This record gives sequence, C-alpha cells and structure tokens, in this order.
Amino acid sequence: MQRICVFCGSAAGVSPAYAQAAKQFGQALAGRGLGLVFGGGNVGLMGAVANAALEAGAEVIGVLPKALQAREPGHQGLTQLHVVAGMHERKAMMAELCDGFVALPGGLGTLEELFEVWTWAMLGFHRKPVCLLDVGGYWAPLLAMVERMVDDGFVIAAHRRMLIVDDRIESLLDKISEYQPPQVPRWIGDGET
Ligand code: AMP
Repeated sequence: MQRICVFCGSAAGVSPAYAQAAKQFGQALAGRGLGLVFGGGNVGLMGAVANAALEAGAEVIGVLPKALQAREPGHQGLTQLHVVAGMHERKAMMAELCDGFVALPGGLGTLEELFEVWTWAMLGFHRKPVCLLDVGGYWAPLLAMVERMVDDGFVIAAHRRMLIVDDRIESLLDKISEYQPPQVPRWIGDGET
C-alpha cells in the first residue's frame, strides 16, 4: 500500500468540520507514510487535504485536466502535477497511481468519481478498496439510497458490502490496509444476491 486516491469537494462545505476532517485525513496519510493522489486543485477540501499532507511530509500527486487548469491553475507546491487531456485520462491515471480510493464529503464530481471506481470494483476491473469517510453523517442519505437499491433488487448485497464506510480516519485506514478483495458475483442473478 503506497498511495491513496482522495475524491472530495472542490468546495469547502458550510461546516468547518469538513475542512478539519480533510486536513486530518491528509495528516493521517503522511503519518502512515502513505502518498496522496488527488485532482490537483488548490480549492475547497481538495486543497485542504493536499496542503495538510504536503505540510506533514507526504508525497502528493495531482492529476488535472487541461481545461480545468485553464480556468484555475493547479496546486503549485505538489510533489508532481500531471496535466492531462481530459477527465477520462485523469480518472484513469488517478486509478492507476493509487492502491485505494477514499471519498470525503463533496458534490457531483465526488459522487461521479466514487461511483465510477465502485462500479469498476463491482465488475472486477480492479481489486482496490473503495471507501467513504463519513464526516458528520454526510453520507447517510446516500447510504440509505444504496440500501433502497439493494432492497428493490438493483444492487446485490455483496456489491454494497464492497464499500468500506467509517467515520474515524485511523480506523478507516486500518481497514484499507487489511482489505482483502472479496470474490463477488459480477451480475445480478449470478450466484449470491
Ligand atoms: P465536486 O465534488 O463537484 O466539488 O467535484 C470535485 C471535482 O471537481 C474534482 O475532482 C474536479 O473534477 C473538479 N474540480 C472543480 N474545480 C476544480 C479545480 N479548481 N481544480 C481541480 N479540479 C476541480
């Protein structure tokens, strides 16, 4: 386990608890000798996690699409900043560079990134852990939606169980380091439900 990819808000959120958690997460990665892979911006929770990880001595790699860089320069103090052609290249490179994924609170971009890597795990395209850091119960409505998807037969329980959820950073990082990818059926109706 070398690097964790973080998906999180380009906004900081209303409560200061979000930036505080992002900062603590960056520090915790550095404390364990883990590097950070993230979207490369110096805004919102993205900036908070990256700055805290850098200050605490971690390797921090940003991956920024050209079009976003044109609007707002990427973070200038990173260990490495890769500027790539578009969003698809960005997500592929972020996935390649890391050994696990953690979503902190965020908006539409964060959800899109989370669901993409969770779907890839479900389909067996990678075997890396996919996680949520649940700050202040932020993810509870999303988790309720996923329960509904299971109850109504659109998601199998084995795929829901692939997502690691914790509200404590150290315990989440422990679970990541111990993660053994499950053998799960890929399709609804393909064995376990
Ligand atoms: P959201 O959760 O909607 O705030 O989206 C987070 C995602 O926003 C990031 O992963 C990026 O795709 C995108 N994003 C928005 N603004 C920036 C920025 N200034 N630098 C880098 N990425 C950004």
